[in-house]
Amino acid sequence: MTFSEIGLNPALLAALTDSGYSVPTPVQAQVIPAAIEGRDLIACSQTGSGKTAAFMLPALHRLALQERPLAAARSGGREDGRTAARGRDQQRWQPARPRMLVLTPTRELALQVTAASEKYGRRMHQVRAVAILGGMPYPKQMELLARNPEILVATPGRLIDHMSSGKIDFSQLQMLVLDEADRMLDMGFIEDIERIVAATPEARQTMLFSATLDGTVGAMAQRMTRNALRIEVDAPSAKHENIEQRMHFVDDLAHKNRLLDHLLRDASIDQALVFTATKRDADSVSDRLNVAGLNAAALHGDMHQGARNRTLAAMRRGQVRILVATDVAARGLDVPTITHVFNYDLPKAAEDYVHRIGRTGRAGRSGLAISLVHHAEQFNVRRIERFTRQSIPVEVVVGHEPTRRPQTTKPRPAGRPAWQGADTRNAGQTDKRPAKATAHWRDGLPRAARQDSAHGSQGGNGGRRALASGR
Ligand code: AMP
Repeated sequence: MTFSEIGLNPALLAALTDSGYSVPTPVQAQVIPAAIEGRDLIACSQTGSGKTAAFMLPALHRLALQERPLAAARSGGREDGRTAARGRDQQRWQPARPRMLVLTPTRELALQVTAASEKYGRRMHQVRAVAILGGMPYPKQMELLARNPEILVATPGRLIDHMSSGKIDFSQLQMLVLDEADRMLDMGFIEDIERIVAATPEARQTMLFSATLDGTVGAMAQRMTRNALRIEVDAPSAKHENIEQRMHFVDDLAHKNRLLDHLLRDASIDQALVFTATKRDADSVSDRLNVAGLNAAALHGDMHQGARNRTLAAMRRGQVRILVATDVAARGLDVPTITHVFNYDLPKAAEDYVHRIGRTGRAGRSGLAISLVHHAEQFNVRRIERFTRQSIPVEVVVGHEPTRRPQTTKPRPAGRPAWQGADTRNAGQTDKRPAKATAHWRDGLPRAARQDSAHGSQGGNGGRRALASGR
């Protein structure tokens, strides 16, 4: 199936051609035709699956059908000269009446969605999209709302502020999208979402996207949609088959920092994303890397929105090679040139691991995700492996070996993922590990570490492998 076979508006087809997209992704192939029919949708789909276009294209298609002829649109007010100024003055006192609202959990995702609407709607004359985000100055946002955009993309908290001050009127709203609904609930937005949805017309079309549809999010999805088509393209733990995963054991913080520094000098890295658990660590790791001569920048929720935007723009332009971020960057960030993701700290939730590593291997490319793991965190690794149903091979870099032997559990039969083979009751019975694994750790030194090539090693995902430093 192609986009033109779906029957999308020619202006959208042209924009898709400009972007180099001809074939819909699986989620798009299912969502777009149903959304064009006007159906409510509840979709469970993997990060990086093309879900933004899946809801944005049918929404723009609908708005395109409602576009007035260009000449009428031009003479209709705010577009030119003095009439435009008068229109703006009038508009200042009138609330914005959007026709589409997209709610997202994070500012980054909101900006990403706004950029996507501009990308796909660039051949349309009258579609304006505005992002309403926490952290952005109110006067600037009021100015944006005064343009009466057709599409509002917002984080829930800030949207409520503007609704309360009468700056937004949802009486004309036709489409509501809840993007990454599970994440919004995790972030405690449930009451805000309920309030926003209650202010929109009952006759709206609702599309809800979520990594999971279990529990509260599933119940909310049912409540907010009518006779919704349920689309499940991929489970949240769907295999990122184009992303190779590895982990390295570290003894302590100093070892972790040395190893990270070493791994980041790999020439095969185009751009890298390093995840830390705290904002403070994002700053300090970034500072340390800069002192070490690596081009790094930090990104976290304590930074002003302007600074966050500038950092992301610099990343997109390739001016920053390493972005050190908290989980604010785990979702939504779409920079196809990110070749490597590093978990300096493991995420708290296994699901976040999937989102983090999904920042690489974008748009059909391959990627590498490397986790730096302290021995005491093996339990966390198992949770991730159980969730993803994939085992993460352990690697060793010569010259950066951990002195402590990892406390492996019962050996996994070859090819069997950790979530099936792990049995913590046998922790420490290292004599039962497979010969290959034992060889790596004999006498606390990774014997096989000298054999393989540098980080570019593509030796597949099974078992334990060692990695030479290439120094
Ligand atoms: P998303 O899941 O919306 O974050 O999209 C993931 C990436 O896939 C983005 O870089 C999109 O621009 C890209 N993308 C979306 N639709 C297509 C398509 N039909 N063909 C190729 N790439 C696409």
